[in-house]
Amino acid sequence: MSLPQQEIRSCDVLVLGGGVAGLRAALAAAESARVTILTKDAISESSTAYAQGGVAAVLGADDSFESHEADTLRVGQGLCSPKAVEAVVREGPERIHELMDWGGAFDHEGADLSLAREGGHSRRRVVHAHGDATGFEVMSTLLARVRAHPSITVIEHAFATDLALSAGRCSGACAITATGTQLEFAAGSTILCTGGLGQLYRETTNPALATGDGIAMAWRAGAELADLEFVQFHPTSLYIAGAARHLITEAVRGEGARLMDGAGERFVQRFHPDGDLAPRDIVSRAIVEHLAETGESCVWLDLTHLGARAHERFPGISRITGMYGIDIAKDRIPVHPAAHYGVGGVVVDLDGRSSVPGLFAAGEVAMSGLHGANRLASNSLLEGLVFGRRAGLCAAAEREAAPHHGEAATEGRLLPAASLHVADLRNSVQALMWRAAGILRSGDRLRATLRTLERWYEFMQRVELAGTPAREARNLVTVATLVVRGALWRAESRGTHFRTDHPERDDLHFLVHGVQRAGSELDARPI
Ligand SMILES: Cc1cc2nc3c(=O)[nH]c(=O)nc-3n(C[C@H](O)[C@H](O)[C@H](O)COP(=O)(O)OP(=O)(O)OC[C@H]3O[C@@H](n4cnc5c(N)ncnc54)[C@H](O)[C@@H]3O)c2cc1C
Repeated sequence: MSLPQQEIRSCDVLVLGGGVAGLRAALAAAESARVTILTKDAISESSTAYAQGGVAAVLGADDSFESHEADTLRVGQGLCSPKAVEAVVREGPERIHELMDWGGAFDHEGADLSLAREGGHSRRRVVHAHGDATGFEVMSTLLARVRAHPSITVIEHAFATDLALSAGRCSGACAITATGTQLEFAAGSTILCTGGLGQLYRETTNPALATGDGIAMAWRAGAELADLEFVQFHPTSLYIAGAARHLITEAVRGEGARLMDGAGERFVQRFHPDGDLAPRDIVSRAIVEHLAETGESCVWLDLTHLGARAHERFPGISRITGMYGIDIAKDRIPVHPAAHYGVGGVVVDLDGRSSVPGLFAAGEVAMSGLHGANRLASNSLLEGLVFGRRAGLCAAAEREAAPHHGEAATEGRLLPAASLHVADLRNSVQALMWRAAGILRSGDRLRATLRTLERWYEFMQRVELAGTPAREARNLVTVATLVVRGALWRAESRGTHFRTDHPERDDLHFLVHGVQRAGSELDARPI
C-alpha cells in the first residue's frame, strides 16, 4: 500500500473558505501579505453563491444608521453586541460602494439603487442584483479581484481537516486535496471563513458543504464558541419530496406574496401582528404549528398578484420552480421551513480575533455579536464584507513569521475506516436534529438527544477517518453535540431558540451568551 503524499507549504495568511467572508478577508490581507485561500469544493460553490435576497445597508434617502441598528438590535432580542452592530451598519454603505467600484452590478431604478424591504426591516434597504441572484454577483465581483491579485493563491478542492497549534498559537492548518495529498500549511495567521452548519438538519437551504467544519476545527483547537443554540430556520423553502430545498427568498413576501394553507386561508396574522412579514423564527413556528393543526405537509406561497411581473422580479425562483412545473405567475408554491443560518459560532472581537492567538474568524462561522439571538434578513452578506475585511487587515498586521508546522489538534484511532457507514451517520444526525433540536425544542428531548449524540461522538473518536465525507460526518456530530448542549442549557425562548417547556424569554437568567470550549463546562457570559 502506498503512503499518502505529503506537502509542506507556507504563507503569511491562510484563509480557510472562499465565500464572501473569505474572499473579502483575503483581499484585505493581501494589501500587505502573501495569502492562500483553501476551499473544500470549487471556489464558486458556497452559501454566498446561493444568496438571493440581497445585502442590507443604509443607502436610501429615508433611511438612517439608527434605524438599521434599531432593527438589528430588536431582532437580536437583547444578545447583540451594540459595538458590533454599529461597526457593521456604519461600514455597510462603504462596502457596497466599494463592490460597485469593483464592478458589482446591483439593480437600479433609474439612477438610484433599487432597494427592497424584507422581514424585520423598517425601511427599504436591501440592495439586490439580477433580481434574486445577489450572492452570485457579490461572489463573482470579489472572485474576479482575488483571481487577478498577485499575492493571493487559491487552492480549490482542498479540505481543511484541522488547525495546527504551536506553543498555544494557531500556526496554520492541515488539509487533504482531492487526490489524497496531505497538505500542511504553516501560516503567520489563519482566518476561518468556512461558513455555516445547515447540513446538521434534514431540511436545509444550505449547500452540501455547510457541515460546520470551521466550528468543529475551532472546538478541537480550544477556541471559545458561543450561542450555538441559535439556528435560524427560514420559513419558505421549496417543498417537493425528493427535490432540493431551494430557498424562496423573503423578498417575495416583501413584494406582497402571501402565505396560506391548503384551504387558501391566511394564518400567520394569528401568531404575530406583522403577519407574513414577521421575523423568520415567528413565521417558521407559525407554519409548523399550523401544519400540526391541519395535518398538512406544507403551506403555500402565492405571488400570483404580480402576474407576469413575478418572472421579471424573481427570475431565479421562476427558473427553479419552473423545473417542477410551477408557474409562479399562476400557481402557488409549496413551501416548508428549513435550517438556514447558524447564528452562533467562534467568538471574535471587532477585528475578528478568536480566543486562540493567531486564529481569526469571519462570516457565518463566527460569532461577532452582530446577530444576537436572531439574524435580521440580509445582514449576513454585509457581515461577511465588513468582518471579512476587518479580520483580513488584522490577521495580516498581527501575523508572525510563518512557523514550523505545529501539532494538529487530532486524536488516536482504534477502529478501521470500514467500520463507519458515513451516509447512515450523516442521515441519522440530520433526522435526529430536525426532530429534537429544530424549530420546537423541549428539555426532555434535548437531554435524550444529547445522550445519543455523545454515544455517536464516542464512536467517531475511535474510528479511523478515511476521506473527507467521514471527516465531515465527524464534524457534524461534534457541532450537533454543541448545538444541543447550548439548547438544553438555555431554558428559555428567545430569538430563533424556542423551548416548548420554557416558552417565555427569561432576562433574569439568560441575558447572557452560552460560551463553550473543549474541556470546560458551558459558561454563561454577560453581553
Ligand atoms: C440559499 C441561501 C440564501 C441566502 N440568502 C441570503 C441573502 O439574501 N442575504 C444575506 O445576507 N444572506 C443570505 N444567506 C446567508 C449567507 O449567504 C451566508 O450566511 C453567507 O454567504 C456566508 O458566507 P461565508 O463566507 O461565511 O461562508 P460560505 O459562503 O458558505 O463559504 C464557505 C466557504 O468555506 C469553504 N469550506 C467550508 N469547510 C471547509 C473545509 N473544511 N476546508 C476548506 N474549505 C472549507 C467552502 O468551500 C466555501 O468556500 C443565504 C444563505 C443561503 C444558503
